[in-house]
Amino acid sequence: MPSQREDCLFCSIIREGTYVRKEKGFVAIKDINPQAAVHLLVIPERHVDSFREIGEFPARETKRMLQFVAETAREVGLTDYKVQVNVGPSAGQTVFHLHWHILGAVPHPAEASTHAETAVVEL
Ligand code: AMP
Ligand code: ZN
Repeated sequence: MPSQREDCLFCSIIREGTYVRKEKGFVAIKDINPQAAVHLLVIPERHVDSFREIGEFPARETKRMLQFVAETAREVGLTDYKVQVNVGPSAGQTVFHLHWHILGAVPHPAEASTHAETAVVEL
């Protein structure tokens, strides 16, 4: 497993293994304090403190991470959503392990029926 920190909340969550979705190198969890009907966090296993250190990821891993964000949103039935990264305390960052917020509304039932994975919305 890539670099981990003993004293990091998200590194602990990754070690504990309670997540909505996982792929080699990345997990998605439900935000404990949701700011939208669907609020997930995508967290890379590789610990970097913030988006500022994005260059520490190999190019291939960076691409996979972005794909994992998009696939996670699709799998929970979202078509329209926000992806947000807070960088630094005055921008709202409170956990210093890079993570991507996925914020979306619960899809309208008529829309959701077009998604095979709709059931996953009930997180
Ligand atoms: P940020 O403020 O951008 O650093 O985002 C950190 C997010 O982590 C916040 O939205 C918190 O609600 C969320 N959070 C904090 N602790 C936990 C936890 N134990 N499980 C899931 N989400 C958490
Ligand atoms: Zn960490």
